[in-house]
Amino acid sequence: MSERSPQSIRAEALEALLIEKGFLKAEDVDDVIARYSERVGPLNGAQVVARAWTDKRFRDDLLRDGSAAVSPYQFEGGQVEKLVVVANTPAIHNVVVCTLCSCYPWALLGLPPKWYKDPEYRSRIVREPRKVISEMGFEVAAGKSIKVWDSSAEIRYLVLPEPPENLLQYDENELPGLVSRDGMIGVAER
Ligand code: FE
Repeated sequence: MSERSPQSIRAEALEALLIEKGFLKAEDVDDVIARYSERVGPLNGAQVVARAWTDKRFRDDLLRDGSAAVSPYQFEGGQVEKLVVVANTPAIHNVVVCTLCSCYPWALLGLPPKWYKDPEYRSRIVREPRKVISEMGFEVAAGKSIKVWDSSAEIRYLVLPEPPENLLQYDENELPGLVSRDGMIGVAER
């Protein structure tokens, strides 16, 4: 039963104190959690990726200045003031980490998964990315090099996965369904 991290205990104590002192309402906290897990979620990012697959000009804009390219969507959630999108290619696979803490593009991906915040992922993905990605269920092709991008308070990275080979067989509104949160972090193919 000792699953809980010191951070989660501290967060709960802080929440209880703020509620007790009247600075915060429990409903506000629930609302924030619901916003990121239900209304934001990785679907925003998946829409952006799907559009980049089919709209060359948007793809170019996205890779040049991620924040500017996604700003017309007005995604709620923040954390993308300086968004850098890195594209997977036949030669390069990209993967994202925050070695310091857990910086993450919330507006595009929703809440970060628990493993993204674990010290194990944060240290090992830098040293042995191919092995860590393989353990998570995806084998990066042997001929590809892997680039690891370290997020920070200023810069949030998003991986643009490669489109499926049979891209044109899909209806445009089916495409976001092919894109996963893990693909946009870089620990899955797409
Ligand atoms: Fe961080």
